[in-house]
Parts: sequence; structure tokens; C-alpha cells
Amino acid sequence: MKYDKNNIFAKILRGEISCNKVYENDYVLSFYDTNPQKKLHVLVIPKGEYIDLDHFNTEASEKEIIEFSKSITHVSKLLKISNSEKGYRVLSNTGQNGGQEVPHLHFHIFGGEPIGKMII
Ligand code: AMP
Repeated sequence: MKYDKNNIFAKILRGEISCNKVYENDYVLSFYDTNPQKKLHVLVIPKGEYIDLDHFNTEASEKEIIEFSKSITHVSKLLKISNSEKGYRVLSNTGQNGGQEVPHLHFHIFGGEPIGKMII
């Protein structure tokens, strides 16, 4: 599958569409989801052109993978929902059966209230 440079997160990364930013560094961008499913719902995306988690874990450099993983904890601390506060849930929909809508890798972070059952 080829990366679609016109997906909405690619447009956000190019600055063509605005976002409500939480955090950014050379490797990742984090912003609030426009259709929040929980009290706090933010997304974290890598800046590289990766379709999904499988693509990322196959093609990304170790530095990109480490930075992406560490950014989840960094964002959770910024939002004051880390496990030393009350915790959160991370999920990444992957492909058709995973229910992925935007074909640029993203992790959802949910928090700010009890998240409930594992499958929502
Ligand atoms: P997924 O179904 O895992 O691909 O999730 C895509 C998510 O992107 C959904 O939760 C949408 O609400 C969210 N979304 C779509 N467009 C935007 C946008 N422009 N800014 C922030 N979040 C968005």
C-alpha cells in the first residue's frame, strides 16, 4: 500500500490544516482529536510518512521508533494523566478490521476519566 500524501494528518503536518497542538518535536506531533470520545482524547503521530503501526515498525529508524514511543509518556505527563496521576489508555487502529480511518499512523490517548471496557 502506498502512503497517501493527501490524508488529513499529512495536511496538518504540512501546516495546510490547523490543529489544536499539545506537543511537537522533530519526530512527532500531538494534537487534540476533533471528535473526542472521552474527556481527554489526543492523538500522537510521527512526522514521517507511515501508514500504520506495521509500516512504521518495518520502515522507521530506531530513533523514530524510540522517539514515538517516548512521546506517549511525555504527552501523558503534559496532560497530567500519567500513571502517577490516574492513568490513560493508548490505542492504534490498524487497517480495515482495526477500523483505521486516517491512513497516517496515529496513537489515540484517552484519559481524564475512567475509560471503561477495553473494547469501546
Ligand atoms: P482512526 O479511526 O483510528 O483512523 O482515527 C482517526 C481520528 O482522527 C478520529 O478520532 C477523528 O476524530 C480524528 N480526526 C479526523 N480529522 C481530524 C483533524 N483534522 N484534527 C484532529 N483529529 C481529527
